[in-house]
Amino acid sequence: MFIYDLDFVSLTGLMTSWGEPSFRAKQIWQGLYQHFYSSPLQFPNIPKPLRERMANELDFVGIEPVRILDSSDQQTRKTLFRLQDGHFIEAVLMRYDKRRTLCISTQAGCAMGCVFCATGQMGFKRHLSSGEIVAQVMYYARILHQEDSSVTNIVLMGMGEPFHNYENTMTAIDRLNDADGYNFGARRFTISTVGLVPQIRRFADEKRQVNLAISLHAAEDGLRQSMLPVNKKYNIDEVLDACRYYVNQTGRRITFEWALINGVNDTPEEARKLAVRLKGLLCHVNAIPLNPTQGYKGQATTRERAQRFKESLEQAGIPCTIRMRRGIDIQAGCGQLVSLV
Ligand code: SAH
Ligand code: SF4
Repeated sequence: MFIYDLDFVSLTGLMTSWGEPSFRAKQIWQGLYQHFYSSPLQFPNIPKPLRERMANELDFVGIEPVRILDSSDQQTRKTLFRLQDGHFIEAVLMRYDKRRTLCISTQAGCAMGCVFCATGQMGFKRHLSSGEIVAQVMYYARILHQEDSSVTNIVLMGMGEPFHNYENTMTAIDRLNDADGYNFGARRFTISTVGLVPQIRRFADEKRQVNLAISLHAAEDGLRQSMLPVNKKYNIDEVLDACRYYVNQTGRRITFEWALINGVNDTPEEARKLAVRLKGLLCHVNAIPLNPTQGYKGQATTRERAQRFKESLEQAGIPCTIRMRRGIDIQAGCGQLVSLV
């Protein structure tokens, strides 16, 4: 049993079933999520026999770091983890100024097959459990803690489609959000989805404080479909209707992500078409020059073209930021995560 797969109630139940007082659960919970212990032998307030039983019967590893890459500017770190069944995932830490943003995975591989995404190119392996999602955060939280620092933001933008693994993703967020545990504020999470409409609506109904980003990348169905196969199932109108529903339900601003591909979706016309689509919606556009991947021939936009795209959108009243590319030298940019050693 993987320790991070347990919620507090199950941990309490386990302690009771072991004949332990229920306050042990609280001690373990605090050890895990406030002191970032990674081994049962570390818990100073737990009696030795119980520590030994924990070591024998509970899995504290779950995800094992097998390769760490630091970018040449030392600001971005990518860690490859081996899962217990031999699959691999990656998670990235980005340091900018005071921010410590973690980009974590929700699946090994991805079933959505977006053509420009390395994770999509490798196909779907399996969903991650809630504990495997939580463990990526705890791994980096532990490292930052040793530097007297801490995670400031968590983006679910690593490998996989979080809304395809909805339950485990939300369970992981709830566990990290727990006030008696890691206590990571809901507003500091961002979930990115390729546009799974029923889940966007469900997420809206749950009225969570978590930020939502939608990968749009094109303003017309033909173009979007050629890049994002999921568009055959949920077209742009359906996605945007669900986005309007989300904004109405939550009052929260939505982010649209746009990978700028030279000559494909980075033209002023494309920006104008997008502006027409987004008119009246509480949103902004996050554009990012395409990151190179092995299986896709398209090229990144240029600085000038990106700037013109942004200006065209802003003239039409849609706020747009161009995100910096990070960690490209270690293939840690958006869409570059794959699980090959
Ligand atoms: N599955 C989710 C989240 C993971 S991908 C989603 O698709 O939204 C995170 C972001 O990176 C998405 O916006 C995705 O479209 C984008 N992306 C994928 N491949 C990319 C690439 N090669 N260059 C830039 N962005 C890319
Ligand atoms: Fe999956 Fe997102 Fe990559 Fe598309 S962009 S293949 S949804 S991880």
